[in-house]
Amino acid sequence: MNSTTQRTAIVTGAARGIGAATAIRLAKDGHAVAVLDLDEASCAGTVSAITSSGGRAIAVGVDVSQPDQVEAAVARVAAELGAPTILVNNAGIIRDNLIFKMTIEDWDAVLNVHLRGSFLMTKAVQAYMTAEKYGRIVNLSSTSALGNRGQVNYSAAKAGMQGFTKTLAIELGRFGVTANAVAPGFIATDMTRSTAERMKISFEDFLAGAAAQIPVGRVGQPEDIAATISFLTSEEAGFVSGQVIYVAGGPED
Ligand code: NAP
Repeated sequence: MNSTTQRTAIVTGAARGIGAATAIRLAKDGHAVAVLDLDEASCAGTVSAITSSGGRAIAVGVDVSQPDQVEAAVARVAAELGAPTILVNNAGIIRDNLIFKMTIEDWDAVLNVHLRGSFLMTKAVQAYMTAEKYGRIVNLSSTSALGNRGQVNYSAAKAGMQGFTKTLAIELGRFGVTANAVAPGFIATDMTRSTAERMKISFEDFLAGAAAQIPVGRVGQPEDIAATISFLTSEEAGFVSGQVIYVAGGPED
C-alpha cells in the first residue's frame, strides 16, 4: 500500500479503460473509490472488481461537463464515502478529423468533456480538499498535447490540461493539495480501438504498428498509467506538484 491513510478517491470515466484500472489500483492502495461515468450501470464491473476484493466503492452516473450533475455527484460521494481528497480527471472522448472537416460540434464536445469537465469536477472537489488541508489531483493529458494529425480539438484540450494542472498546483499548494498531469502515449483501450476502426485497420495491426515505434517495444496497458497515478496520489508524493509525467514507453516525442 502506498498511502498510510485511507482516503476517498474520485475517478471520472472509470467504467472502462484507464479509469477502471486506476479505480481498481487506488482501491488496492487502500482508498474508498467513487467510480464515476456517464452511465451509472456501466460502472458495475469496476465496482464489483473492487468490492469482490474487499474494497469499498460506489458507482455514480454523471456527465462531467454538466455543472448540476457534478455538484450532485460530488455531494453524494462525500455523503456516502466521506470527503473526497483524491481526484483523477480521466473522463475523455475523441472526435478526430482534419481541421477542414472538423465540425464545431466535434470541437465543443471534446473541449467540454476534457477541460470544462475537469474544471467543474476540480472546483467542486477542491472545497473538500482545502477544508481537509490535503489533496491529490491528477489530470489526464496525452502525448497528443504536443500535436497529432487529425486531433486539433483533442491536442488543444490535452495541452490545456497541462496549463490547468500547473495553475492548480500554484493556487492550491498552500492547502496541502498537489496537482499533476499524466500524459500517456499509446494505451490499449476502447479509445485506441475506435481509432483503428476509423482508420479501417484491425486493432491487432494497429497495436503492432504502434509497438514498433515505441522504444520499450510494446504498447501501454491501462495498468501502466494506474501505477503512475498511484504514486502521484500517495502521501509520499507531496513534494511533486505541477508536473507533467509522460508515460509513453520512451521520451514524449
Ligand atoms: P475510454 O476507454 O474511451 O474510456 C473513457 C471513459 O470516459 C468512458 O467510460 C466514457 O464513457 C467516459 N466518459 C466520456 N465522456 C464522459 C463524460 N462527459 N462524463 C463522464 N464520463 C465520460 O478511454 P481511455 O483510453 O481509458 O482514456 C482515458 C483518459 O486517458 C482520457 O482522458 C484519454 O483522453 C486519456 N488518454 C488515453 C490514451 C490512450 O491511448 N488510450 C492516450 C493518452 C491519453 P462512455 O463509454 O459512456 O462514453
